[in-house]
Amino acid sequence: MPGNGVEMSPVKAREQDGPQAGPGPARWSPQSFHVMVKPRGPICNLDCEYCYYLSKETLFPGSGFRMTEEVLENYVRSYIEAQHGPEVTFAWQGGEPTLMGLEFFETVIRLQRKHHRSDVRIVNTLQTNGTKLDDDWGRFFKEHGFLIGLSLDGPRDLHDRYRVTKGGGPSFDDVMHGLRLLQRHGVEHNILCCVHEGNAGAPLEVYRFLRDEAGALHLQFIPIVIRDNDTGFQEGSGVVPPSVGSRQYGEFLVAIFDDWVRQDVGRVFVQIFDEALAAWAGSGPSLCVFQETCGLGLAMEHSGDLYCCDHFVEPRHELGNINGTELADLVASEKQWRFGMAKRDTLTRYCRECDVRFICNGGCPKNRFETTPDGEPGLDYLCEGHHAFFRHIDGPMQIMADLWRSRRSPALIMEIQTREDVELPSRLAEISRNARCPCGSGKKFKHCHGRE
Ligand code: SF4
Ligand code: SF4
Ligand code: SF4
Repeated sequence: MPGNGVEMSPVKAREQDGPQAGPGPARWSPQSFHVMVKPRGPICNLDCEYCYYLSKETLFPGSGFRMTEEVLENYVRSYIEAQHGPEVTFAWQGGEPTLMGLEFFETVIRLQRKHHRSDVRIVNTLQTNGTKLDDDWGRFFKEHGFLIGLSLDGPRDLHDRYRVTKGGGPSFDDVMHGLRLLQRHGVEHNILCCVHEGNAGAPLEVYRFLRDEAGALHLQFIPIVIRDNDTGFQEGSGVVPPSVGSRQYGEFLVAIFDDWVRQDVGRVFVQIFDEALAAWAGSGPSLCVFQETCGLGLAMEHSGDLYCCDHFVEPRHELGNINGTELADLVASEKQWRFGMAKRDTLTRYCRECDVRFICNGGCPKNRFETTPDGEPGLDYLCEGHHAFFRHIDGPMQIMADLWRSRRSPALIMEIQTREDVELPSRLAEISRNARCPCGSGKKFKHCHGRE
């Protein structure tokens, strides 16, 4: 699974804040940034119907799609040199990165040791479809502390709807074999679950399967939004199947949140819930999608070509090649600065006045192809779903944020929620129709639980 916006790092979001407002790009000198590296380019053994990356093959006619050791070493050296934080996170993606073979990643470790700086800790993350994993991979990942992101869309029938082999066959058994192997070897992992029209109608079935049967405690839900065009680039209005509907995505998140907030807080980690809590607690979201600006999550192809973002691997967003220019210089370019600032500078007035802007920030620019109610272009396709979800969780999030600020566990929300569930029916019976609904939605009772 290639990157998908929300999962800037396959395992844990570690991105720093994006470019800051200032007089111009002269101030743009990122202390740390993140690159999704595609050593095998868009090549993959699966043929998922919603994959947005397979089509990138056309950008490299005649290529063998294998990163050479020369490009790899250049990247490892320049990436470590360019980072000024305490941790350097390498993110290996695809296509399917395990198609490079284990020897490639043994070379990665050797080169990281060669160019290692004593003041930084090196971490490797790898996003995989899991179908090629065996015990050798498991031992290797464990020995070198890789954090693995594995793509799984729910139980068998929902997963196999779109995550299919080149021949159109199912992949569920192979993925589950890969997951069990990671678990057997004690490899740290999380699950990346794409939300599309095939599984969005079954939120609890998906969530409980991932939690109870897959045994996954770190989850990311990624909305599938495929724009209607023949290029595979970010252009064209409207979406095509199997894109998730905006409202449908919001309802999917609401249903899972309502389950999670009653029994799984502090036990199961759902990325968008963590992001929300950080925002409600005042520390701000860490994912580019929810930050005011972006531009610190780039993508690099097997050739060394660097792009503004994994979702904008297209000629007009190419920054250059690391074999001709230092990586740090490409990232610090005016072009990349403008890319990151555009997220804030093109925000619609509708978003600027929105009550959940502090967590949403207008969503990812790749999805901003809708029009606001007052006719301004550039609204996030997922606006309706995000807004409904963020409004829905406002009450519990305020409580969790207060608990956190007073150094108590946000998990206490589960007791509070259970008590409210018991008391709510009697409070609803006494409330007048124009009073605020006691469920905490902020709406009038007659527009909420008291709706006819
Ligand atoms: S596993 Fe599926 S989504 Fe991921 S790169 Fe392969 S075809 Fe694309
Ligand atoms: S366009 Fe910006 S917000 Fe969207 S995925 Fe890329 S870096 Fe993140
Ligand atoms: S919820 Fe909608 S209006 Fe509000 S910030 Fe997000 S995209 Fe903009």
